[in-house]
Amino acid sequence: MRNAYMTDELEAIYDQTVEFVANEVHPHGNAWEEAGKVPRDVLRQMGALGMFGLRVPEEHGGLGLGMLASATFSEALGASTFAGFDVTVLVHTDMAGPHLINSGSPEQHAEWVPKMLSGDAIFSIGVSEPDAGSDVAGIRSSAVKDGDGWRINGRKMFITNAVYGDLTIVAARTDPDNKYGITMFLVPAGTEGFEVATKLTKHGWLCSDTAELVLDDVWVSDEQVLGTVHRGFYETMKNFQNERMVLVGMGVGAAQAAIDLTNAYTQERKAFGGHLFDLGAIRQRMAMNQAKIDAVRASMYHAAWMHDAGQDNVKAMSGVKAWGCEVVNEIMYDCLQFHGGMGYMRESPIERLVRDARILPIGGGATEVMLEEVAKRSYAP
Ligand SMILES: Cc1cc2nc3c(=O)[nH]c(=O)nc-3n(C[C@H](O)[C@H](O)[C@H](O)COP(=O)(O)OP(=O)(O)OC[C@H]3O[C@@H](n4cnc5c(N)ncnc54)[C@H](O)[C@@H]3O)c2cc1C
Repeated sequence: MRNAYMTDELEAIYDQTVEFVANEVHPHGNAWEEAGKVPRDVLRQMGALGMFGLRVPEEHGGLGLGMLASATFSEALGASTFAGFDVTVLVHTDMAGPHLINSGSPEQHAEWVPKMLSGDAIFSIGVSEPDAGSDVAGIRSSAVKDGDGWRINGRKMFITNAVYGDLTIVAARTDPDNKYGITMFLVPAGTEGFEVATKLTKHGWLCSDTAELVLDDVWVSDEQVLGTVHRGFYETMKNFQNERMVLVGMGVGAAQAAIDLTNAYTQERKAFGGHLFDLGAIRQRMAMNQAKIDAVRASMYHAAWMHDAGQDNVKAMSGVKAWGCEVVNEIMYDCLQFHGGMGYMRESPIERLVRDARILPIGGGATEVMLEEVAKRSYAP
């Protein structure tokens, strides 16, 4: 067993995912990075293997597993070394999908869950805006009651999977007098007035598509309200720890891949009458990096276990999101450094791993915001 939290089922999920990325992602990832998208076929293939249903309750056709399954899955995806692919999948399964599962009506489940599981519909979650990211309660997109539905106006920024995806879960203000008066709406691609303003050009995650969206007088029916009117902020918060965790998970998987690549490279690269890895400065730093990522991994699984055991894990998960994502970036820095000039070349996977890791301390709760979550819970009783 890989760690104390594993079961036979989780171990099998890890192995299946690592095998899938080795066979289906590694050989094609560079082409997807060039194209700026993950082909739908590969996502459908994952759907057919049951990979999109780990967290979906059994009555809806999934496996009904807990947060430890998301930890396992995200870490295994991280081994792909193409984080743009990892995030495409994880936004669908662990950042957008859970809102539908947690808050959807029976009719919404019947319409969308089968397509989510098969990969016939890919989901995105539209919360961030040009003027509101960390401060979720500051969003300005608004929805006003109009007949049997709602009329939505506003802009959304940095929305993963919204260029090529099929359904965006959009957060809009419905109570102008209450800063937390937000409602979530199911807005399918192609709805009149709902447009991709820009496909954004990024520093990393190149095969993940990221959109700036415009909502110009978009009309949606009452049946497209997800959850309870004005309660979207609180309903969204229910999934925050899971979002944080899968970002750490993909970072842990990627950092381990970077360590393995660097150990292999420095053990082959000849210098000073031996190999780079024989130099104390390098072998000890890499050993320390291994110890650090082992500690992040253990903390992440522990925080996931807390959730599955019914404990409040906000302090633990926020802490590991803050600290773990910074550790991942420190490790990536060393790994590129020990590849020398080759590490700076586009053809080297380590160059991509470094770029891809930089977003981890920003997205899904910036380090400083996470540390506030820890600090707020650190006052003496
Ligand atoms: C590639 C990419 C994909 C994304 N995908 C999605 C998506 O699918 N859906 C979605 O809704 N959003 C998405 N986001 C948005 C992401 O969640 C936000 O970028 C993030 O929450 C930070 O918000 P911001 O960029 O507006 O930065 P700001 O909120 O403006 O913050 C800027 C910086 O200020 C600091 N800071 C912020 N608040 C505090 C504080 N309270 N105390 C101290 N320092 C602070 C932090 O260092 C932070 O990085 C994505 C972003 C990127 C770049």
